[in-house]
Amino acid sequence: MKLYSTNHQSSDVDLAEAVFRGLPPDNGLYMPTEFRPLPPTFWENVQNLSLQEIAFEIANALIGEDVPTEDLRQLINNAIDFTAPIVEVEANIYCLELFHGPSMAFKDFGARFMAALMSYFLQKSQKQIHILVATSGDTGGAVAQGFYKTPNIDVTILYPSGKVSDIQEKQLTTLGENVRALEVNGTFDDCQKLVKLAFLDKELTDKFDLASANSINIARLIPQAFYYVNAYAQLKKSGVDLPVVMSVPSGNFGNLSAGIIAWKLGLPVHKFIAATNVNKVVPAYLESGVYEPISPSLSTISNAMDVGNPSNFPRMKALLDNDLDTMRRLVVGYFYDDEATKVAMKDVFDRTGYVMCPHTAVAYLGLKAYTNTLSEPVSGVFFSTAHYAKFLDVVEEVVGKQDIPTRLSDLLSLEKQATPMSTEFSDFKAWLMANL
Ligand SMILES: *Cc1c(COP(=O)(O)O)cnc(C)c1O
Repeated sequence: MKLYSTNHQSSDVDLAEAVFRGLPPDNGLYMPTEFRPLPPTFWENVQNLSLQEIAFEIANALIGEDVPTEDLRQLINNAIDFTAPIVEVEANIYCLELFHGPSMAFKDFGARFMAALMSYFLQKSQKQIHILVATSGDTGGAVAQGFYKTPNIDVTILYPSGKVSDIQEKQLTTLGENVRALEVNGTFDDCQKLVKLAFLDKELTDKFDLASANSINIARLIPQAFYYVNAYAQLKKSGVDLPVVMSVPSGNFGNLSAGIIAWKLGLPVHKFIAATNVNKVVPAYLESGVYEPISPSLSTISNAMDVGNPSNFPRMKALLDNDLDTMRRLVVGYFYDDEATKVAMKDVFDRTGYVMCPHTAVAYLGLKAYTNTLSEPVSGVFFSTAHYAKFLDVVEEVVGKQDIPTRLSDLLSLEKQATPMSTEFSDFKAWLMANL
């Protein structure tokens, strides 16, 4: 697999280099130079394949040159060891549950696959890689779980003190082993700045092999294409034969970019819905053709999507030939405020008993808005990107007391282990020098 930079000022690289570099030197995003669609026989039989088998075929089509067949199969079986079922919530309206992984958010797909791929590339070397990652909540939990006990890799997670939920904090701070948490006395932006400065510090980068695990890494994107195809396979298996619409609750637009990759590999999707909260940069772009970042981003109850300048948007454009009309043919945008989101959570719960997290509710609303414009029936799939219990405060405020899965409630009794950290880079650097 060859990857180019969307800024076209850096040379092409192979997969291993793209994964360890994260970003090309010209600050673009790495993108595969070609997509070879899967053969018609694959699509005819896809309903008979498991998520892991589908994942293998897609990964093989994308990165088969970089990882030999049997190694790739094993890597996928280790990384994707959970399910992504669809649940029919209303007639022809399905929820794709992406929260059955260890951190109970869809970011587990990206984080576990990235960890497995890095570890595979490292196994023949004696190198020790140090991952630095700043989190506002969900990323940290998925990365912590994804890299836990991975040989040759350790992880340092920076999170803003008092600004993540109890469950999210416990997910970051209770694993131990090769995962360490720094509780920064500041905001998420302060955490991100410390990480950025570390990557620019020559003394640190000469001494240590540092790597990042944020959502622009191509290794986090590839595995997200798996569940789009698996969702289609499940619909086909249940005998549904209508055009398929998929609604994706979006922030940095990595998830939807992966959907477009699946489409380029041949996934028959009628439309994708780009559903956002009031950080509506992409729906507004689809409407007006003008891209206007929102700075600073607006705070909402679907806070994992509070992104005012989506980092994967250049990828989404590149996948669709940088052409607005091409994008408009495939993608429709809708956005919702917190009030509408809460109304949807309550309405769906009252009618069906199904509990949605706020992000999931945004996707549900986008799907319903679009299907209401159609005169022909379709199968609609809205993505649930997190288990509702990760956002328990707002969920219980809207729909009343709910059960917490034991995987999450067990965490609350574990002891938090985090090192306090100031927002001064000199303090962070001293800690890294002494502890990596
Ligand atoms: C990260 C996240 C999103 C946004 O996904 P993108 O790929 O950044 O668009 C949506 N929902 C939840 C729960 C998330 O954690």
